[in-house]
Amino acid sequence: MAKMTENNLMDKIISLCKRRGFIFPSSEIYGGLANSWDYGPVGVELKNNIKQLWWKRFVQSRDDMVGIDAALIMNPKVWEASGHLSNFSDPLVECKKCHTRFRADQIDTSKLCENCGAKDSFAEAQMFNLMLKTFLGPAEEAANVVYFRPETAQAIFADFKNVLQTTRKKLPFGIAQIGKAFRNEITPGNFIFRTREFEQMEIEYFIRPPKTDEDWQSAFEMWRKEMMGWIKEMGIDTNKIHEVEISKDKLAHYSKRTIDFEYEFPFGTKELYGLAYRTDFDLKNHSEASKEDLSYLDPETNERLIPHVIEPSLGVDRTVLAVLCSAFDDSNSDRVVLKFPYKLAPYKVAVFPLMKNKPELVAKAKEIYDSLRKNFMVAWDDRGNVGKRYYSQDEIGTPFCITVDFDSLEDGAVTVRDRDTMKQERIPVSELKDYLTQKLNF
Ligand code: ATP
Repeated sequence: MAKMTENNLMDKIISLCKRRGFIFPSSEIYGGLANSWDYGPVGVELKNNIKQLWWKRFVQSRDDMVGIDAALIMNPKVWEASGHLSNFSDPLVECKKCHTRFRADQIDTSKLCENCGAKDSFAEAQMFNLMLKTFLGPAEEAANVVYFRPETAQAIFADFKNVLQTTRKKLPFGIAQIGKAFRNEITPGNFIFRTREFEQMEIEYFIRPPKTDEDWQSAFEMWRKEMMGWIKEMGIDTNKIHEVEISKDKLAHYSKRTIDFEYEFPFGTKELYGLAYRTDFDLKNHSEASKEDLSYLDPETNERLIPHVIEPSLGVDRTVLAVLCSAFDDSNSDRVVLKFPYKLAPYKVAVFPLMKNKPELVAKAKEIYDSLRKNFMVAWDDRGNVGKRYYSQDEIGTPFCITVDFDSLEDGAVTVRDRDTMKQERIPVSELKDYLTQKLNF
């Protein structure tokens, strides 16, 4: 029964996302493409707000961070050196009866096939490489094979030398990047949770080669706290977050310690983010493979060293999904509200004329709309009645709605309605900007 309700929540979120313009099935007019999604007008605002806040928090406001924006398709030697071409694989099993493919680590192959119910139908698991391949240039031949990056992280290592030379950063420092990544996932699904094209926000934080465990553990701990701070800033329900220590036998070969931040999504508790201590594995490998010196010259001791690295790795789309799940509130039977933190709301304010067939109301409302747009994302709505407009603004999480009525023409004040308390206040138009700036904490 509990499961029914939870799946129901997912259905409600998917339907709201489609109805209000957050997320649509991609290329829907052609029947869509399985597990591909497009962000619509309010979805792109939400996603951009997340990315901008991340950049502000982890790059702009820190002295020890710089950013890059690298190409999606890089020299394939990058993926040879990183181990992705040989190791970036998941175990795949196929049902011999219906030919549905599953990730062997996500199902119990001794049980019936989830799709057709066949018994003992699974063939031996085979490793399946997740790299998405294409050809660069007109000839589809082996020499032209390239790969879409499966993570943003490796570009940071490949650019390490250039960043170091141009910024002269001193250890410890980090390089951040936001961008698309592609994986030929065996079992994509659960809306935007697992797709073959997605976005990541990653940091490689370089530290001195540790002399003791405490040396890397303190940087790891700093990032663990930072990630929890970020999760709180996103309004993600921290009671539904579980930090899972990956056991030694399950650690990736390059990692000395990994924590997964799992979130109780409606379809199960699953990875939201990861934090890993990758030692000097990547820079060492790229140094050897490229024959370029990727060491760091310590300005005090004049000693050359290969930095070690802590990697906080965050999915943008999984953030969007966790934010939507946390913000969704239909506990009041009269309305559905997305209670986003104000910073994340696609529109901060909506402006309505009380009636759309009264030109003097429309003109006054338009004047306010145009002036507020210089400072905030503002929505305009003149359809139906005010109650319906509140209903639709609640569904996209707009914190404040402003109504211009006949009294406004006399007293120069408007009604401001608060999304969360539903309380209404009369505010003079001349004070609106300051009122909103203060309320929204801009
Ligand atoms: P999973 O175990 O779910 O496949 P992963 O451990 O392979 O994830 P990482 O390689 O650590 O994931 O990638 C870092 C982050 O990128 C993840 O924590 C997640 O937020 C995001 N991510 C990874 N794969 C996908 C995907 N297919 N779709 C959407 N986001 C993804």
